[in-house]
Amino acid sequence: MRTSKYFMPTLREVSSEAETISHQLMLRAGLIRKQAAGIYTYLPLGFKVLKKIENIVRQEMEKSGCVEILASAMQNSELWQESGRWSEYGAEMFRLKDRHNRDFCLGPTHEEIFTDLMRNNVNSYRQLPLTLFQIQTKYRDERRPRFGVIRSREFIMKDAYSFDLDEAGLDLSYEEMYKGYKRIFDRCSLKYQVVEADTGAIGGSSSHEFMVISEVGEDDLVFCEKCGYSANVETAISKERSFADLTEDAISGKKEKVYTPDVTTIRDVADFLKTSSEKILKAVLYTDEKGRVYMCLLPGDREVNEIKLKKLLGLKEIELATEEQIKEITGSKPGFSGPIGLKKEIFIVADSEIKSMKNFVVGANEENHHIINCNNSDFNINVYGDLKTVINADMCHNCSGNLSSSKGIEVGHIFKLGTKYSESLNAKYLDNNGKEKPMVMGCYGIGVTRTLAAIIEQNNDENGILWPLNLAPFEVAVIPVNTKNETQTKLAEEIYQTLKENRIDAILDDRNERVGVKFKDMDLIGIPLKIVIGKNAAENKVEVKFRDKDEAQIVEVSEILKIVQ
Ligand code: ATP
Ligand code: MG
Ligand code: MG
Ligand code: MG
Repeated sequence: MRTSKYFMPTLREVSSEAETISHQLMLRAGLIRKQAAGIYTYLPLGFKVLKKIENIVRQEMEKSGCVEILASAMQNSELWQESGRWSEYGAEMFRLKDRHNRDFCLGPTHEEIFTDLMRNNVNSYRQLPLTLFQIQTKYRDERRPRFGVIRSREFIMKDAYSFDLDEAGLDLSYEEMYKGYKRIFDRCSLKYQVVEADTGAIGGSSSHEFMVISEVGEDDLVFCEKCGYSANVETAISKERSFADLTEDAISGKKEKVYTPDVTTIRDVADFLKTSSEKILKAVLYTDEKGRVYMCLLPGDREVNEIKLKKLLGLKEIELATEEQIKEITGSKPGFSGPIGLKKEIFIVADSEIKSMKNFVVGANEENHHIINCNNSDFNINVYGDLKTVINADMCHNCSGNLSSSKGIEVGHIFKLGTKYSESLNAKYLDNNGKEKPMVMGCYGIGVTRTLAAIIEQNNDENGILWPLNLAPFEVAVIPVNTKNETQTKLAEEIYQTLKENRIDAILDDRNERVGVKFKDMDLIGIPLKIVIGKNAAENKVEVKFRDKDEAQIVEVSEILKIVQ
């Protein structure tokens, strides 16, 4: 490829809307252009990398024994009615009607379609197990599309669905996928963590997420360095909810130890906590009449509590009150370090505001975890006890190691679905005794376009993208310094041809531009190796520079192939 005939519109500046490095670089390096909120066009460089990632995914899926198909993006509502998800799915689903007023959607996911395919075409145990996959465009009308292709409304997903005879078979299929996912993300040079995940709305018994460690990740993860335990905080929260259910009785007064203290100020709360449960209760939440949320934390476990409470409330930011503010507002006694103002929704708590809060119920459940139930018309939430203890207790993380946390970008997600869809859609097979049984299913997703952005998020410097060699849009850039100098252009042409003949994907920067501009562009788009043909051309020597190294080296032209191969 020659830059003069290529389409790679690079930019020096991008709009402030691009908050993350990967979003900025994908725009600047000319990988994507926005078409509408959360909807993008892939330009040649972006498209090329996308195809490379897709190929890695495809190869590894095939190695895991999966078979590729391509389903339609547009889906008939009737299947979704059958599974019950037409009404459940909510606003994230793009819905449309045909000219006969029939309902369709643009698929956000494909469980129904694949299950339907199987029920119509497979009926004997002899045809199972089978795992089908596709690499296809998905549509989700995200409430907040952002970070470019990390959270977009149209995106490419690899989704796979396994169909087994029984749970034991599903375990094997799941294991195979788990291993395949690791191979994929390893080949993408990603630093990632596999975490236990919530089975949430899709249902099912077991689930793991593949999380790329990154500051801009929207998921919060907890790890134990000591025993290797790791989980998505969301999982902890959903388990907490069931824990909270357990304590419903306590809150509603069915158990003995329920009492409603006269809490009107933060100071009252502090005093109450100090006398009753200092060691156990670590977080208190308030809501006021406007539905604003206030939180205060007792010392210790602060980080974990904060993360979990943020998630619980669906808030992104929590701003800690300074020691000074705390003192001023609470007149706090040692050992009490709230309140915390929650950015945007919340302001620093003042006593006068707290007076207007209502409906506090404080109770204790059987395990003597204390619970505060904040309940008004705008907000209804249960928060209780030492959240870290709850994480530890509820998630088997029970070693003595400390939990640490980080943010992650969810690039992959695998699920054991069981028979949820095969029951509702009637996908049955006949076993070897002629008995009808539901297929046992798993589903497995990878955000292919999100993975692309995540790779950039982890591989960049001040000059641009640092592609791993196997993903770079071109492996080598051949750059004549002065395109008016015939010796240089001729040698550049020769080198370019030799590379091509040797199946090395090279781009010849034959633009009549200052060499500085060419270097900047090639670094921005992240080409791993530059071959610069300058004043040494007459002696058959060129400069070779790797994108991730500072020094360049002068080499004989005859040595080039040795270096690049
Ligand atoms: P998230 O929690 O980020 O909303 P999800 O859990 O809803 O993702 P899944 O239903 O598990 O997503 O879909 C499988 C994969 O598809 C995800 O792991 C992610 O990599 C990718 N994905 C999901 N939503 C988007 C999106 N809006 N834009 C890009 N990729 C996405
Ligand atoms: Mg989602
Ligand atoms: Mg998720
Ligand atoms: Mg998911």
